[in-house]
Amino acid sequence: MDRARRRKFGQNFLNDATAALIASDLLVSTESILEIGPGHGALTQHLLKKNTPLLAVEIDELCVSVLREKFAEFQNFSVVNQNFLDFDLRKFLDVNPKAWITGNLPYNVSTAIVADLMPFLKYSSGFMGMVQLEVAERLCAKPASKAYGSLSVWVQAHAQAQIVRRVGPENFSPKPNVDSATIMLKPLECPLQAPIAFFEWVQIAFSMKRKRIANSLSKHFEKALVFEALASLGLSENTRAEELSPQKLLDLYQALQSKI
Ligand code: SAM
Repeated sequence: MDRARRRKFGQNFLNDATAALIASDLLVSTESILEIGPGHGALTQHLLKKNTPLLAVEIDELCVSVLREKFAEFQNFSVVNQNFLDFDLRKFLDVNPKAWITGNLPYNVSTAIVADLMPFLKYSSGFMGMVQLEVAERLCAKPASKAYGSLSVWVQAHAQAQIVRRVGPENFSPKPNVDSATIMLKPLECPLQAPIAFFEWVQIAFSMKRKRIANSLSKHFEKALVFEALASLGLSENTRAEELSPQKLLDLYQALQSKI
């Protein structure tokens, strides 16, 4: 297979032993599975053993041909040749409520895919899949840790996020230049009730990492009001965005909104 195609579609295929391990992490009983980026079916062949309907969404038509031939015998397998970023997830989850979403995600679009999943996560059982380790750390980071940022807030406003296992480059062909990790994202029973404008505000709040949140926010809001909002929550003027949980950030956003 040509290298340009592999690079374009972020194709690093898993070896069988690791694919089996990852599939076994999805032990939970479920009525359906949605797999993103099945490639040549390394993970798919283990997931199909669960005897659950599985829909795979794969962008590369060559992979789709391989999959159709390989799994022709499986009644529970179907595949669509589509960019997952254009896939109608809401419609799929309407028909397949509480499906598990999984996949060894293409690293070039893994952040976009996970971010897009979040508003729909509550209609599914959750997501368990692979991303590069650095992305996994950002998605699952807790306040006050180095990796915590606006992406962590977006994900953890919707999901309980944790790293399940680390996977080294030697488990893929071709080997990626980075380490990988599987993550489990389970929908929160009570997702953070916040408007989209809050998440845009969070990006401003984190725009100057390791600086006081008042400095980042003062580019868009009067500094005195930011100090007032911080004080109303008992927070010091020196508070940094990365010290605040998603809920505390929302409290601060609302306190500031009430003053402008
Ligand atoms: N699951 C296979 C495995 O573990 O061996 C392949 C994983 S590979 C890292 C990522 C797969 O996602 C490739 O098959 C690639 O063609 C596919 N892919 C890349 N971008 C995609 C997109 N936007 N939508 C759907 N599939 C995509």
